[in-house]
Amino acid sequence: MNDIRIHPAVDDGVRAGSDNFAGASLHCHCIDSPVEVTVKAQCAHNHVCGCTKCWKPEGALFSMVAVVPRETLSVTANEDKLEVIDASAAIQRHACKECGVHMFGRIENTDHPFHGLDFIHTELSKDTGWAAPEFAAFVSSIIESGANPDNMDSVRGRLRQLGLEPYDCLSPPLMDAIATHTARARGVL
Ligand SMILES: [Zn+2]
Ligand SMILES: [Zn+2]
Repeated sequence: MNDIRIHPAVDDGVRAGSDNFAGASLHCHCIDSPVEVTVKAQCAHNHVCGCTKCWKPEGALFSMVAVVPRETLSVTANEDKLEVIDASAAIQRHACKECGVHMFGRIENTDHPFHGLDFIHTELSKDTGWAAPEFAAFVSSIIESGANPDNMDSVRGRLRQLGLEPYDCLSPPLMDAIATHTARARGVL
């Protein structure tokens, strides 16, 4: 089961973050003039994600993605290399035009349940204090990227072995948060 490559950051075991960590810089993969994003906060809800939209490293079945408050994130170098890859998507992913790495995802719709949070990939930082991934989201969606449907039991087994409970949407607390937001917006709560 260990030959299943979930994501390079977890394949050798999930490493705990640091309690006092307060953010760091992220860099794209360009050797020359990398885009730099600086985050002044610990991340939350870090997880591996099987959806087809999140950026993932070559050969990995999952991306690894977390959120930070958007006011704690700023682009600190080579911002001119960033472009939004799909302006119509709920999460606008700001990617490097040269290496293709997604530096952050931002929600501009103020009615969206996760408005105010930016999505980041902590593996783009050399610092190791970032909060560890806690679960696996959108696991069934890896099939949409070409993963063999017959291997899904092994993939879910490996995720459980790593302590990353597999869900086919988001985790229950996040699904509850979305439903609560929707209920409040409709006035039923
Ligand atoms: Zn780049
Ligand atoms: Zn995703």
